Amino acid sequence: MKICVLGAGVIGLTTAWCLAEAGHDVVIVDRHASTAKDASAANGGQLSYAFVAPLASPATLLKLPSLLLSPDSPMRIRAGLDPSLISWGARFLLACRPAAVRETIAAQLALAALSRGELARLTQTLCLSFGLRTAGKLVIYRSAGEFKAACRAVVASGEEDGQQILTAAECLALEPALRLEADKLAGGIFTASEQVGDCAAFCAALTVCLRQRSNVEWLLDTPIVGPVRSGGRLAAIDTGKGQVQADHFVLCMGAASGAFASACGFYLPIYPLKGYSITLTPTPDAHTIRHSVTDMERKLVFAPLARGGRAAIRVAGIADLESDTTLDAGRVDILRRASAELLGIDAAGDIEPWCGLRPMTPDSRPIIDWSPLDGLFINAGHGMLGWTLACGSARLAADTIERKRPGTESGAFALRRAA
Ligand SMILES: Cc1cc2nc3c(=O)[nH]c(=O)nc-3n(C[C@H](O)[C@H](O)[C@H](O)COP(=O)(O)OP(=O)(O)OC[C@H]3O[C@@H](n4cnc5c(N)ncnc54)[C@H](O)[C@@H]3O)c2cc1C
Repeated sequence: MKICVLGAGVIGLTTAWCLAEAGHDVVIVDRHASTAKDASAANGGQLSYAFVAPLASPATLLKLPSLLLSPDSPMRIRAGLDPSLISWGARFLLACRPAAVRETIAAQLALAALSRGELARLTQTLCLSFGLRTAGKLVIYRSAGEFKAACRAVVASGEEDGQQILTAAECLALEPALRLEADKLAGGIFTASEQVGDCAAFCAALTVCLRQRSNVEWLLDTPIVGPVRSGGRLAAIDTGKGQVQADHFVLCMGAASGAFASACGFYLPIYPLKGYSITLTPTPDAHTIRHSVTDMERKLVFAPLARGGRAAIRVAGIADLESDTTLDAGRVDILRRASAELLGIDAAGDIEPWCGLRPMTPDSRPIIDWSPLDGLFINAGHGMLGWTLACGSARLAADTIERKRPGTESGAFALRRAA
């Protein structure tokens, strides 16, 4: 079969790999001249297999007013009265129900486990080098209430073996680089098995492997303008450089997937959630973090990455519901100040500020399913966990397209559950 993958971020590339490996002729189309230039370019670097809680939850709902009103808040809405945000927001509120949250966590944990295995397989068979490391992850809580709730969740999940509940003093002993007074901390949860890796380096290495395959064709620097429908099916796509025909198309356009779906005649609830990162390169003698750290209250992640043989720290966070991709200096400053406060790193030099649009569904679960338009499959909407979930999602997508798995229409990642 000839299958055209729309988008060359981490989701498009991993999907293209699984399809090419299965023997299909694959065409990869992207508007940029190289791969992974949008949300996959400089994300938080955390492979978060155990912490998969969605953004929509009863706790987020309670905190929403204060989150939206404080100028330094990690969350902001700047979209005005956008009708697509209103329908997305209504679905977000429904996804905050405890039963919906439980369902999402179970589905995401299963997909994360599949992803971990698939990433290990790819890394080994293709000898990919992208700084993959089992660094362990420490989630710190400043609020006693949030910490208690997190501890209850660990106990309820029966994961006490894999996830250790730590007192404030134990957190600081585990990660002495944290510049926090013990009395400012309620406690933490440490998961030794969590990993880190540089998503852009992974995409670059996978691109090299895809380029070596004779059944993969590239159409980079090629903007997708819209669908070409014929006889009730997607027959081709219109690009700035002519039409591309294929037997099937896979929609992996990240935050732009909703607009393409709309041009195809159906609603895909994916809204952009803009986030920021900075990358710090501490001096070789600096005393810095060894594990990846998540500051739950500030919704910021700090990941120790290895880039080109040098240690670096990726600091990422912020959740602004907007589609504009310009860097806001005030938002970058939140990350800079947090690095100085939590890690004592005075980030005055080149901090490589970056922003990207997370493709968010209301319940934070990706959509991996056939679309209502014949010939178009969807693998999009991975939100805050696209790097973590990429390899498993690609496997699920390729197997479903190849009919090795039953149809996904009633499953956890079905379009119907989200739309
Ligand atoms: C600040 C931040 C921190 C994050 N931290 C983490 C983390 O620590 N761990 C984790 O697991 N995830 C993290 N994520 C999430 C993760 O980065 C995303 O979920 C993931 O990169 C989405 O991949 P994607 O391939 O769907 O989208 P993208 O990488 O955005 O790829 C979409 C592709 O589609 C192409 N495209 C779009 N429109 C068109 C068009 N009209 N024509 C042609 N091509 C088009 C784009 O050029 C792009 O290459 C983070 C995200 C952000 C923003």
